[in-house]
Amino acid sequence: MSRRRKIYEGKAKILYEGPEPGTIIQYFKDDATAFNAQKKGTINGKGVINNRVSEHVMTQLGHIGIPTHFIRRLNMREQLVRQVEIVPIEVIVRNVAAGSLSKRLGIEEGTPLPHTLLEYCYKDDALGDPLIAEEHIACFNWASDEEMRDISGLAIRINDFMSGMFAGIGIKLVDFKLEFGRLWDGDYSRIILADEISPDGCRLWDIETGEKLDKDRFRRDLGGEVEAYQEVARRLGLLPEEGGNTVLDMAKHRKKTQN
Ligand code: UDP
Repeated sequence: MSRRRKIYEGKAKILYEGPEPGTIIQYFKDDATAFNAQKKGTINGKGVINNRVSEHVMTQLGHIGIPTHFIRRLNMREQLVRQVEIVPIEVIVRNVAAGSLSKRLGIEEGTPLPHTLLEYCYKDDALGDPLIAEEHIACFNWASDEEMRDISGLAIRINDFMSGMFAGIGIKLVDFKLEFGRLWDGDYSRIILADEISPDGCRLWDIETGEKLDKDRFRRDLGGEVEAYQEVARRLGLLPEEGGNTVLDMAKHRKKTQN
């Protein structure tokens, strides 16, 4: 029987009460969902990798002065984070057209965008996280104008840093999702980065081959999702180097057999 109180169970994570007030434990599951949870499955070892990748990215972001909820990793699947009040908005940052943007506007996947595009979705599973404008955010008071200035400024800084970090290991950061929270101190709150940053919420393409190294492998039944997540962790220096059947080997193999 679990000693800890479960606060919330989501699609990819479970939140438990933390050891001190104001803290929460994030437990990373192997469960994967797509298309608003219509498609369900598991990716073996995904939780372990996402815990490590998110730790790494949040720590690096902390080093450049981005406030995050991350405190420390506790074990293979758990990390201690600050309890925040989640702003009910998903911030989508895009550098290259893909996914729902391509579908909605008929822009071919892979088209580089002339500048970074920020989109906002209202966090509501029952509604399928609909795309919203900043006017909706103000109208329904989901975040103040000042908070939105902080959120958009942080999102751009995070994108600049992460684009460089991934480019350095041969990966193109196509797009990703961020969530922010309010950290309360008496009557005042400030915005900090929350949730996770992992291949579950990013599109990551190998620069050389274009091979997808993210959850699209699961969404689009491409196979090799375990290897793709491992490849990202390995390139970030979070898994030991080894030979083996990586996604890139698979891509090369496919090209050879096509020729
Ligand atoms: N994303 C996410 N959670 C969501 C919606 C999107 O993590 O609920 C991420 C997704 O992995 C991608 C980016 O945000 O990296 C943009 O997703 P998009 O709007 O293209 O939607 P999708 O094609 O994933 O349905």
